Amino acid sequence: MMPFESDLNSAVNSIKKSRYTVALTGAGISVESGIPPFRGGDGLWDRVDPAFLEIDYFYQHPRKSWKLIREIFYQYLGSARPNKAHEVVALMESQHLLHTVITQNIDNLHQQAGNQDVIEFHGTTGRLICTQCRETISDAIKINELLESLPPACPQCGGLLKPDFVFFGEMIPPRASERSFAAAGKATVFLIIGTSGEVFPAALLPERARQAGATVIEINTAPTTYTTGTTDIFLQGKATVVMEALQNALELSNAE
Ligand code: NAD
Ligand code: ZN
Repeated sequence: MMPFESDLNSAVNSIKKSRYTVALTGAGISVESGIPPFRGGDGLWDRVDPAFLEIDYFYQHPRKSWKLIREIFYQYLGSARPNKAHEVVALMESQHLLHTVITQNIDNLHQQAGNQDVIEFHGTTGRLICTQCRETISDAIKINELLESLPPACPQCGGLLKPDFVFFGEMIPPRASERSFAAAGKATVFLIIGTSGEVFPAALLPERARQAGATVIEINTAPTTYTTGTTDIFLQGKATVVMEALQNALELSNAE
């Protein structure tokens, strides 16, 4: 479904006038890259019990947990590529129409699409962290090598390596959280793309932005908890379709 033209025009006017535009993205933006969301989608999470992503389970059964993590996040989903929606988000940043992306996704696709300022609210699969000495490893080739024997061991101290994303039962990285709430608080336009608003505390960001005076523009295939109370302009449709329509309406060309 294409968004209504009048809503698209209001969104374009707000974005053009905006001094500080922030986007909050969720699993929905990556669905068309072949990564299923937790809710709905193709049922990956019906086949695999997400219990292996609980932090206590990880420390109790690091090898078992890592076997599933490697299979799902590094082998099965590791070949996913940014889609048109990620590309338009990157293009908007390069043309100074968007300033910060806050993503709940751990798939690294905004970075791959070329966005510079990405706050990883839930961390990323693109980095490993040592649970002993806190050493981090971001080099993709090095990560692949380390994942050849499980559980992977820290090259510095031999400690257990963990993917640097937020497991169930873990805290949000404080700096990511502080930066995100600060960005939401100064946003003049706040875009919400493909998030259900059911995972806290990230779910609080749109309301923070609205209360600080931002125009909230939401893009989703279906209405969410935000659509009636928080959202000013709802553009219903698939992220790739709506973002491409937005690109055209903003007259953004792919050439830098
Ligand atoms: P969610 O699974 O709760 O909700 C996904 C939302 O996307 C829904 O509202 C759905 O209607 C919408 N959607 C589905 N397909 C869409 C499309 N093609 N275009 C636009 N919208 C679409 O996701 P969430 O709110 O991000 O919360 C789930 C948590 O799990 C988050 O922390 C999330 O990052 C994490 N997660 C991440 C990934 C990833 O890294 N890609 C995948 C699954 C889950
Ligand atoms: Zn270490």
